[in-house]
Amino acid sequence: MKFQVLLYYHYTPIDDPEAFAETHLKYCKTLGVLGRIIISKEGINGTLSGTIEQTETYMKDLKAISGFEAISFKIDEDDQHVFHRISVKVKNEIVNLGLDNDINPHELTGTYLEPIDYFEKLQDPNVVIVDARNDYEYDLGHFRNAIKPDIKHFREIPSWFRKHKQLFEGKTVLTYCTGGVRCEKWSGFLKREGIEDVYQLKGGIVTYGKDPKVQGQLWEGACYVFDSRIRVPVNRIDPVIVGKDHFTGEPCERYINCANPTCNKQILCSKENEVKFRGSCCEACRRHPLNRYEIRTSSRIYD
Ligand SMILES: [Zn+2]
Repeated sequence: MKFQVLLYYHYTPIDDPEAFAETHLKYCKTLGVLGRIIISKEGINGTLSGTIEQTETYMKDLKAISGFEAISFKIDEDDQHVFHRISVKVKNEIVNLGLDNDINPHELTGTYLEPIDYFEKLQDPNVVIVDARNDYEYDLGHFRNAIKPDIKHFREIPSWFRKHKQLFEGKTVLTYCTGGVRCEKWSGFLKREGIEDVYQLKGGIVTYGKDPKVQGQLWEGACYVFDSRIRVPVNRIDPVIVGKDHFTGEPCERYINCANPTCNKQILCSKENEVKFRGSCCEACRRHPLNRYEIRTSSRIYD
């Protein structure tokens, strides 16, 4: 059977997010889609998988809700679900930026660029390209010459920016993220911080990779996704691997979580090195009493 994976968001006021989420969860369960959806008073942000019929119904039904007519979906094909359960959660924001003085992307945001226009701007030697994602996402793949904010969570990006403001002052800035949602407020934030010329990639990396004209060119590596696929291809013309094995530095695109549950850090690691280093990012994690790898294999080796 053929499945589809949907990635989508929409900024539109939702008066009663709790009630909306409750109804939406029931609806998703009845329909049979699986995934993760966030509802807030400012809109919806979701990713889910289902059969073609289920996902087509979902898109049609969501667009039929007042205020959601203009929502757009990024669609991938797959041969199975890429989620194991369905969750619909209410949060303050559809992506957590946590600004004291929040930004409404309908009022303040960077200029949207279609993939082909973004591709052209990327080649302008005077632009600054900045990734809006977390470090482990960047490490698997990114635009050539893009700056990597050293962040583990999106909410850390404003303070990272204030420490590195000199990189951006007076420059034309290009931002990008997976599907576009993080850039909505982040690019608005950059403008409010005094950066005048800010552009964001419309539809994000996943749209850029599928665009028939650019086909992901100037992207290096893969794109990290928050489902069981972990990564999806972007550059269809001249793909390269930029991920590096945590232990050996060899090219690697395979993520595991450190077997120490109190660490749980995502590391790129070959199957061979996972066995050799017992699934642990470091010696201290390997010796942790709750180490999952050691418990699973139940043959503790302390050499
Ligand atoms: Zn660890």
